[in-house]
Amino acid sequence: MPIIPVDMHPPVDLVEDLDHFLGQLSLYLKAEDVQQIASAYYFSADAHRGQFRSSGDPYISHPLAVAETLAHWRLDPQALVAALLHDVMEDTAITKEQIAQAYGRGVADLVDGVSKLDRLEHQSYEEAQAENFRKMLLAMAQDVRVILIKLADRQHNMRTLDAVRPEKRRRIARETLEIYAPIANRLGLNTLYRELQELAFRNLHPLRYKVLAKAVRSARGNRREGVGKVLDGIKRRLPECKIDAEVMGREKHLYGIYRKMREKHLSFSQVLDIYGFRIIVTDVPNCYLALGALHGLFKPVPGKFKDYIAIPKANGYQSLHTTLIGPYGMPVELQIRTSQMHHVAETGVASHWLYKDEQSLSELQRTTHQWLQSLLELQTAIVDSAEFLEHVKVDLFPGEVYVFTPKGKILSLPRGATAVDFAYAVHTDIGNRCIACKLNYENMPLRSELHNGDRVEIFTAPNAAPNPAWLGFVKTGKARAQIRHFLKTRQNNESAELGAHLLSQALHTLGHRLEELGSAAWQRFLKTFSGRSRDEVLTDIGLGKRLPAIVARRLLDGSASGGPVAQSAGAIRIAGSQGMAMQLARCCHPIPGDPIIGVIRAGQGLIVHTHDCRTLRSGKVGRGPGGTKEWVDVEWDPAASGPFDVKVRVVSQNTPGVLARLAATIAEHGTNIIDVSMDADDGVTTALYFTLQVTGRIHLARILRSLRRLPAVIRITRL
Ligand code: MN
Repeated sequence: MPIIPVDMHPPVDLVEDLDHFLGQLSLYLKAEDVQQIASAYYFSADAHRGQFRSSGDPYISHPLAVAETLAHWRLDPQALVAALLHDVMEDTAITKEQIAQAYGRGVADLVDGVSKLDRLEHQSYEEAQAENFRKMLLAMAQDVRVILIKLADRQHNMRTLDAVRPEKRRRIARETLEIYAPIANRLGLNTLYRELQELAFRNLHPLRYKVLAKAVRSARGNRREGVGKVLDGIKRRLPECKIDAEVMGREKHLYGIYRKMREKHLSFSQVLDIYGFRIIVTDVPNCYLALGALHGLFKPVPGKFKDYIAIPKANGYQSLHTTLIGPYGMPVELQIRTSQMHHVAETGVASHWLYKDEQSLSELQRTTHQWLQSLLELQTAIVDSAEFLEHVKVDLFPGEVYVFTPKGKILSLPRGATAVDFAYAVHTDIGNRCIACKLNYENMPLRSELHNGDRVEIFTAPNAAPNPAWLGFVKTGKARAQIRHFLKTRQNNESAELGAHLLSQALHTLGHRLEELGSAAWQRFLKTFSGRSRDEVLTDIGLGKRLPAIVARRLLDGSASGGPVAQSAGAIRIAGSQGMAMQLARCCHPIPGDPIIGVIRAGQGLIVHTHDCRTLRSGKVGRGPGGTKEWVDVEWDPAASGPFDVKVRVVSQNTPGVLARLAATIAEHGTNIIDVSMDADDGVTTALYFTLQVTGRIHLARILRSLRRLPAVIRITRL
């Protein structure tokens, strides 16, 4: 053991820190180990003499802080010595050989491992990140203590980040969020994981952090009464049931709140409505007893109970989770665990050194070891760092799925994301125009949920558009926002266009033309609608919220009136657009060639029916906003080519293969059959219902003629 030279002493202001540190060590280490660690401190202080942190503190304060964290995790003497020496190879003239001579090969290897992680240079940020990550995980697989030292190192650097210039601060914060925090999480170092996230968030988005912190403080004040009632209830009930427990409130982490708001599109109040308590008991049976007692106190939310004691998480975490409905309907999250589980939850894999001989931890060690082993295997199979990172991320970010584009690029999406989310993640245009997809070379519906490793291929069509039904299943914020945006813009555009047509018609009957109206007339008119623009008024008309005749008359108010002129206003041409502002009625399925009439329905725009539509005649539609029927003159655009849906009923003899023959005949005309159904047959005849896609009346007539020629067909009617 190296002798402590007499002239070596801690910088004056660190004497207390050192004493505190050594005191902590003596709680769990032998005196000779403590002495060796103290000597390593002097060795390191001497090597770093004259060096200072950005904060102005003597450099040795940093390795000391790192070693203190490891002592808090109760790590072994080798790791503590290595922590004190972790920067000497990088920043001083000391060599690995000198460390090996003074403190042994084991310590030298640890310091070398940590130093290697620091010595990385790369062109791009992404490249550097990927390579860093890989080194980190491989070092971890060799000896997890290297990573524990590195994590403690990062923790102290993050805590003292204020002294660093802003640009570097952001880079380090981002790296912490992307690499160090997930590793801490995977190793079960929960407290560290949260702290790293919190510090990174504060440095990456200082303003958001500030705003959120303030909001949390004031909200906490408002809810104090309800929370207090729950706490009192719990503290009273547990002793009544003879359960010895420690109850503590759980601090909500700002980063957690921030992430929840972003990912789940929740408002601040929705996120903050959730309060948490942690209940620490002595043993496992008491966990379940406490659970029962508290479910009797407040009603649990069904489906929220999770038993991580029976089924621990991959990182070894164990607890019972449940959510109760407190006073004022306030949800309260509870975590119930033993003190040992609590310790594991806080320090994860590091707790291995504390509970070395405990039975319950062997499972955690085994799974961690297995995971690290699999990383080593992966390492030999995959040479590219970026690719390696993508594979490992699957383990580190369990809330995400990783899928491949046809070109082999990897995209990460939240769990539960669908093919539509994928399409929007690739590009907004791909999302807006997607019509079908293949998952792993197989045709699947667009709503299909994606799984890790899926190969996703999206098919688009130039005129395709997002379907409002997609909003029911997409998971990503991007997809949701883009679909909404598209639908709203399209509806407004179409409605404004339709509105202009309708207004033009109305003006026509008054002997005026829309184009002739000067801007003066519009300005005068718009003044009475504070805040509405011309387009908005046209959109309103198109949506049936305003009557075109009234708008027309008010527009003409004050201008030289041409007087009513009985004159054809010119019909609106229908090209078959099944848009938002103009729809073909689903009751009568009009097709080009049919005489048609339009009806304006408030909030829905123009619906086109056939002249003889029964629904229309029954008078159930066609009431305008003023209670009057808003008929609109419409006609088919000669260029309208569909396809248009039409329904026909075919009564035929019930002979074998009749459906196949009908279908084949229909197909001969290049027609899609959208749907077929049939009535229960009476044994002799059978009625079949087809929904066909045709270009118009002529096309349909040809199909029907061919069908009538079939001997089995008795009667055909269009529905
Ligand atoms: Mn360091």
